Amino acid sequence: MAGAPNPVESLREALLHSPDNLPLWRTLAEMLMQSGDAEAAEQVYRDALNRFPRNAELQLGLADAFTKQRKHSQTFVLLEQLVKQDDAPPAAILKYAEALERNGQIPDAIAQYKLAADADPELRDNAMEERLGISSFLESEPEDVIDGRQRLMPEEPSGVIPEMERPDTTFTDVGGMENVKEQIRLKIIYPLTNIEMYQAYGKKIGGGILLYGPPGCGKTHLARATAGEIEASFFSIGLNDVLDMWIGNSEKNLHELFEAGRRSKPCVLFFDEVDALGARRSDMRQSAGRQLINQFLSELDGVQSDNDGLLVLAATNAPWHMDPAFRRPGRFDRIIFVPPPDAEARAGILKILCAGKPQKDLDFKTLAKKSAGFSGADLQAVVDIAIEDKLQEALKTGVPQPLRTGDLQKAMKRHKPTVKEWFASARNHALYANEGGLYDEILDYLR
Ligand code: ADP
Repeated sequence: MAGAPNPVESLREALLHSPDNLPLWRTLAEMLMQSGDAEAAEQVYRDALNRFPRNAELQLGLADAFTKQRKHSQTFVLLEQLVKQDDAPPAAILKYAEALERNGQIPDAIAQYKLAADADPELRDNAMEERLGISSFLESEPEDVIDGRQRLMPEEPSGVIPEMERPDTTFTDVGGMENVKEQIRLKIIYPLTNIEMYQAYGKKIGGGILLYGPPGCGKTHLARATAGEIEASFFSIGLNDVLDMWIGNSEKNLHELFEAGRRSKPCVLFFDEVDALGARRSDMRQSAGRQLINQFLSELDGVQSDNDGLLVLAATNAPWHMDPAFRRPGRFDRIIFVPPPDAEARAGILKILCAGKPQKDLDFKTLAKKSAGFSGADLQAVVDIAIEDKLQEALKTGVPQPLRTGDLQKAMKRHKPTVKEWFASARNHALYANEGGLYDEILDYLR
């Protein structure tokens, strides 16, 4: 291809002469997206939006560029704004529904999905309907969402209790983290599989485990695998979402949720963003009331109910916001730091992520060395980028090529690891609010 004009450069050149040509901007951005360079595409969309503010197509493109880079909160904010615009295309509403789904805001996702599919039936997506549990909605209840997209969820959310899962992932799908797995085995798995032994030593069973650490390092993945490991049912609850959804009814709904778990024993109840219950938040508007905290604690204590076989895992990126009452014995008396994966874990994670994909001589040791500071989610992004590149190449040449070490290394250079920021704030808490050495593990890690 030597000497052939580079189409991206030609388009950039053309834009210098006609900066008001909207289709040119879009073509350039789309071309960059297609080549897998979402970061450059993001910049082009931003520049274009400076000229054509609020252009829905450009905003949608920017959302795609964010998503590709796994900047999910930016995607979310952008789409949230976009769907409020009068000219929001149905495709934007669909993407907003996908973002809500990613956030675990299922009732909202359903409502927005229905809006999009009503406006443009072509957008219907069977797989998504299946995931949202609304496979036959067009026949049964289209009126739920007719009165405008501002109404974010059906009036009677049927999804107070999140859907029950039966995970088929187990600890073998979790790379590294041997220490964390062992603690979960001791606290949760062995008591269930060796009931007599625990009873013989008079060891009380129960309580929960609180996992904390930077985002994307496998807390949710691990909780799901814990359920798979013991063939338990699994409920995953993002507390911030349910609190919004439950306004006024929170205690009753929380009780119902625990009851649903008790009915499906053995069961792992997983509460993500559990710091939403934190009485320590300066922003009280966002934090749950005292009553709800008490309700949660009494459910956890199992005062009026039988909690045998009910395992509670919780995760937070901000344990310092949590009420110390959560840490009393029999409650979350085990607090486990889930650090970013070490080299061995990174090799394990990459192996898992590449399993089943065409590959040749992948040198996981080298890749692990080159990806210091990457979270599990970062590694997932890297593999996604590399695979997309391969796919594009294969589409061009017609000859599929296996993934090689160099492909992943190249992809690593294009993805910025995300955990640094978390440690900056965690370090302050560990240094200045380290009650009883609670956060020593963070300091150890930073050393
Ligand atoms: P967190 O709950 O800590 O924010 P997640 O569990 O959602 O992080 O992890 C994000 C993604 O990263 C997961 O979907 C998983 O694919 C991948 N991941 C993270 N840690 C691991 C791991 N130890 N082994 C395999 N995959 C991992």
